Amino acid sequence: MEQVVIIGTGCAGLTAAIYTARANLSPLVLTGTMPGGLLTTTSIVENFPGFPEGIDGFQLMQNLQKQAERFGARIKFGNLDGVDFSGQPLKLIVDGDPLETRTVIVATGSSPRSIGLESERLLEKFGVTYCATCDGALPVFRNQPLVVVGGGDSAVEEATYLTRFASQVYLVHRRDTLRASAIMQERALKHPKITMVWNSVVTEVLDVAQKKVTGVKLKNIVTGEASVLDCAGVFVAIGHTPNTAVFGGALDLDDKGCIKLHGGTRTNVHGVFAAGDVADSVYRQAITAAGTGCAAAIEAERFLGE
Ligand code: NAP
Repeated sequence: MEQVVIIGTGCAGLTAAIYTARANLSPLVLTGTMPGGLLTTTSIVENFPGFPEGIDGFQLMQNLQKQAERFGARIKFGNLDGVDFSGQPLKLIVDGDPLETRTVIVATGSSPRSIGLESERLLEKFGVTYCATCDGALPVFRNQPLVVVGGGDSAVEEATYLTRFASQVYLVHRRDTLRASAIMQERALKHPKITMVWNSVVTEVLDVAQKKVTGVKLKNIVTGEASVLDCAGVFVAIGHTPNTAVFGGALDLDDKGCIKLHGGTRTNVHGVFAAGDVADSVYRQAITAAGTGCAAAIEAERFLGE
């Protein structure tokens, strides 16, 4: 019987692991399909306190994992297949095997959202991608015009990153103002290689017949005008969906699809806590994920103490 199982190894999960390990609870930490979480797909993280020059996202996550392991956290490469939260002990199925535990900290994060176009789906991995840091340096994108879709921090960060490789980056946004933070906006708007395409949505990614991206069809939502923009890649950065499917209705969700919290990090199930992006539709920062991971660990420890 485990005392604490932590699901997810992003900032929230690994911070919860550090705290529960230091409380001698020897947490079992499941990586899921993306060990290290979304920050491993980021380049430099400039707003995590304690790193005046910024820190590489992958490096930050490796550091957190080492820190957790130093105090006795057990990191397991494994996937959660299902849960039975009908009573204590809590039951999990991990890679087909049953596992029992007294507490669970859910830190499964979120996944990139797609535009929802059939052509986008068909051209995924053929020029449509959801991660500039993962794919931006591929030869197919070098010295080519590229399109980034979105207007938040992710889109602006991706567009700025892609200027290293692209001949030109077009940032296609459905409104005429960006949602991204002021400093990121300023960098992008001033950048000679970034061109803003305002009030526009992608209606089709071209060209499914050639099985590669050659451009996008755009619609200006103010004028209704349609146009085609040539490009070799489409980087979609329009937000994220919380990863909750595996809980299959066992945990209450809010109207944004995030796990609903009932004070602190408590979910509707006794002994199950949630931290990070899976339970946060407001802040969604690395440091707030780490903070709620810490809170979940303290609450799990108190629950076990009771
Ligand atoms: P976000 O802030 O939710 O922004 C999503 C953007 O995509 C918005 O501009 C939205 O348009 C647009 N969008 C949503 N659905 C769309 C659709 N179907 N078609 C076209 N456009 C669509 O998401 P995010 O940029 O991924 O950021 C998520 C969180 O992570 C934020 O809190 C952000 O601050 C944080 N983050 C921080 C950093 C950093 O500090 N370095 C980097 C990345 C992310 P509207 O503006 O019209 O809603």
